[in-house]
Amino acid sequence: MLVCTDSDKDAVQSAAPAGGDVELPSADTECQAVTRLARAHFGVATAVVTLSNAHGQRLKAVDGVLPDVLPPDLSGPSLQAGTAFDGMVVVPDTWIDERFRGKACGGAARWPRFYTACALTSSDGLHLGALCLLDDMPRALDDAQRQFLRELAGLIAPSLERAHALSTLRDRVKELEAGAELMTLALAGSGTGVWDRNVVTGEIDYSPAWKAMLGYEAHELSNRIEDAYLRLHPDDLADVAAAMQAHFEARTDTYAVEHRIRCKDGGYKWICSRGKVVNRDSEARALRMVGTSTDITALREMAARLQQSIELITNLTDEVPGLVFQYRLMPDGRAFFPYASDGIRDIYELTPQQATTSAETVDALIDARDLAAYRQSIEESAASLSPWHLEYRVQLPRQGLRWRQGDARPQLLADGSTLWHGFITDVTERKHIEAELQESATIDFLTQLPNRRHFMMQSEAALSRVRRVDSCVASVLMFDLDNFKALNDRWGHEVGDYALSHFAALLRAEVRASDIVGRLGGEEFAMVLPDTDIDAAIALARRVQQRTSRTPLLCRAEQIVLTVSVGVDAMRATDVGAYQSLSRGDKAMYRAKERGRNRIEVYGD
Ligand code: GH3
Ligand code: MG
Ligand code: MG
Repeated sequence: MLVCTDSDKDAVQSAAPAGGDVELPSADTECQAVTRLARAHFGVATAVVTLSNAHGQRLKAVDGVLPDVLPPDLSGPSLQAGTAFDGMVVVPDTWIDERFRGKACGGAARWPRFYTACALTSSDGLHLGALCLLDDMPRALDDAQRQFLRELAGLIAPSLERAHALSTLRDRVKELEAGAELMTLALAGSGTGVWDRNVVTGEIDYSPAWKAMLGYEAHELSNRIEDAYLRLHPDDLADVAAAMQAHFEARTDTYAVEHRIRCKDGGYKWICSRGKVVNRDSEARALRMVGTSTDITALREMAARLQQSIELITNLTDEVPGLVFQYRLMPDGRAFFPYASDGIRDIYELTPQQATTSAETVDALIDARDLAAYRQSIEESAASLSPWHLEYRVQLPRQGLRWRQGDARPQLLADGSTLWHGFITDVTERKHIEAELQESATIDFLTQLPNRRHFMMQSEAALSRVRRVDSCVASVLMFDLDNFKALNDRWGHEVGDYALSHFAALLRAEVRASDIVGRLGGEEFAMVLPDTDIDAAIALARRVQQRTSRTPLLCRAEQIVLTVSVGVDAMRATDVGAYQSLSRGDKAMYRAKERGRNRIEVYGD
């Protein structure tokens, strides 16, 4: 602001502080005295004291004719920046001075022709304003006059500095008061009350909000600390006293404790008390302590309800047979179980904690035969976000080999990880039953050999290999016990059964693991021998006959010698099905019957 405004003039006339500047009366008096002295001494039309701040300059004191326009404060730091400035600006004639040429004056008003400003500077170098001389005719100042003006300025600078410091201090106090008001509002809004305790006298002052929290009016409640302790819930008394003592002895930085306190209506509220000793004597004994109390009753009730919900869920999941779990796979491949119900103790013989940091503890238990499928199924589920389902074996330290079934639904999280929610159950019994059913569907119960259906399936596999692989051969042998009806008739059906399982054992004793043996029905058995030509097949048939004749059946101290007729042929690559070679073997076997039994016949011979 270069031009003095009307309000500035008002400020001078009314001598009222404005624009946040607050002056001491003594500074006003001194400034007035100095302007009078300066005007009289220099014989100028006007002497003024101006004050500068960030917003511009304004009149502090004036003696003489107030000019139409107040010249700019040329002694200010912004106008003297970069020059070797000695604190004084003398403009003998503003009409011809460069410094005034560029500055518009406005309207019909004109600058005073003579202008001199002596800077008023605080002890730490702050520009406070200027002592100015103005006149309506050009003038000059000699060195002695300049020095005198400087001395006059020096007289008022300290009181202006004090006034400035006081003004700054008052601004700061206003700021603090505004802050404190905000804090009070915030505390009241958060259900927090404030207390201030004199540890020496035992007095404690409570804010109105503190009293209101417990249902008291501002004028109610004693200010004695003994009464405060009487309001505490008896069960919390020891805790509060211990926390207070610890802080008094400076063992804690702050005092903080949650406890119950009795309200005016006799009910209890949970509050969180925090405080700090703000004053100690020379021996570090607490003198004064201030603090806050916040009503946390609702918070505690919510926490309790939350805890109940958590317990309910935990109990439910822990009671479910099997493992209820969350499994998380991170983008870097790490995996862990964020949640595992108590069932993990049975399912994996681990504690929930052992699986929460890493899933490796679980991976180590997966049976080696199923580990690849286990990992692949998880990867596929993550890639397609489709439900995970797998039946797999685990090897557990206590239970040994067990079957597990897992089912879970995946969910892609924002960080790129995948989280499954699911459960794992023990399916060992079901797997055993399934295996038994499977076996009963494929194994002949009496002889424990594959039944006809299963034998035929295995034979088809052998045939397809003969068809597929050049020079691959396989032989077929058909066995039919001789005169078995007569054995049954003579010794009874039970002995007949015994004879059948006895013969099955003899067959089993002669074959390799890769050979296929089955009971086709009644007293008829068959073999498919992969990688075996006719001669080797005949040799085997012979060994079976010999073993059979040398291993009679013992029955009621009598020996029953079985004989068997055998038909032999080779599987042919041209065969449409395994039944064709078996049928040829059958024909050969009937030839053996025709030719007297206990014989080996080759098809086509
Ligand atoms: P061949 O020397 O001509 O073969 O005379 P075979 O008496 O052995 O033949 P046949 O077909 O006339 O009789 C087979 C008998 O096998 C008839 C049946 O009672 C008996 N049999 C079939 N299945 C069983 C079985 O599971 N247990 C017992 N004990 N006997 C059976
Ligand atoms: Mg028969
Ligand atoms: Mg027979």
